[in-house]
Amino acid sequence: MIAEPGLSQGPKKGSILVAFTRKLAPEKFRDPRLTAKGEPRAEAPFHGFQTLWFNTGTLCNITCVACYIDSSPRNDQLVYLTQEDCTPFLDELETTIEIGFTGGEPFMNPHIIALIDLALRSGHRALVLTNAMRPLMRPRVQAGVRDLVDRYGERLTLRVSLDHWSATLHDQERGAGSFEKTAIGLDWLSTNGIRLALAGRLRWGETEAEARGAYEGLCASRGWPIVCSDPSSLVLFPEMDSQKDVPEISTACWDVLGKSPADLMCASSRMVAKRKGAMRPEVLACTLLPYDKAFSLGHTLVDSTAAPVPLNHPHCATFCVLGGASCS
Ligand code: SF4
Ligand code: SF4
Repeated sequence: MIAEPGLSQGPKKGSILVAFTRKLAPEKFRDPRLTAKGEPRAEAPFHGFQTLWFNTGTLCNITCVACYIDSSPRNDQLVYLTQEDCTPFLDELETTIEIGFTGGEPFMNPHIIALIDLALRSGHRALVLTNAMRPLMRPRVQAGVRDLVDRYGERLTLRVSLDHWSATLHDQERGAGSFEKTAIGLDWLSTNGIRLALAGRLRWGETEAEARGAYEGLCASRGWPIVCSDPSSLVLFPEMDSQKDVPEISTACWDVLGKSPADLMCASSRMVAKRKGAMRPEVLACTLLPYDKAFSLGHTLVDSTAAPVPLNHPHCATFCVLGGASCS
């Protein structure tokens, strides 16, 4: 259930990653060491784990207009992870951190309750991204979630994607009636005392302050315990134009932009996923590039963190570094 980041791509036609790459100047993002201008490419050394993500599988119960991982009821490019798949990675962690579960829709995975239990039993916190629709609302899954909350309390957070505070605009992205289904899921989650967060998107011309205010009103009217002024309780993803040509990021950009590579997701997290037909899961640099083999970093956490990640993909510039700025 990955809603982030917001991609503006028009009608869905195959992979957005293909659509994105097609627009780029061909000489860019070729050499992991050098940009097309011959400058040293920026890279992100690993600084220690804040979050380890598990992609529980790309299948989803719905097909959103702008899902960056292209999930749908038919996309099984990343298959369901099992306890056997996840255990070795949890065993590698030396401190307790946040374990994130994303998809697809994680509650489609038949092992999801056991996977969350495994992470929490190991002493970690768990964050599950979900659309809170039918896969979560099946009685067997609800009983599993309730049991986890009874045993682990606030160490488990469900972050529910609600693209917009209005049903009309949310349903534009996710299909007619989906807002109400997610709202019923949120009602159930809050009634059962499950720690909640929301993920929304800023793609309809509102300011962040306006959006937070409107979400606040919605949460108050439904009784959802979300602090909408808190960016970790209501995460709002800015809209990015995936069709735009983007500059490459050289090492000189850090000073120009006043940013640090330590702030990037790939400096403090990794994502474990299993490709269809693969014998074992692999470790990917981040949640944003699940299909690009260049960002596949081996089969263990220690291997995956040994070398810096070169920022050799348009997403690195668009989503992680520039965010609308320019380093030229
Ligand atoms: S609900 Fe499913 S299709 Fe929609 S953004 Fe999340 S993973 Fe993608
Ligand atoms: S998109 Fe690039 S810069 Fe961003 S987290 Fe992934 S690898 Fe790092």
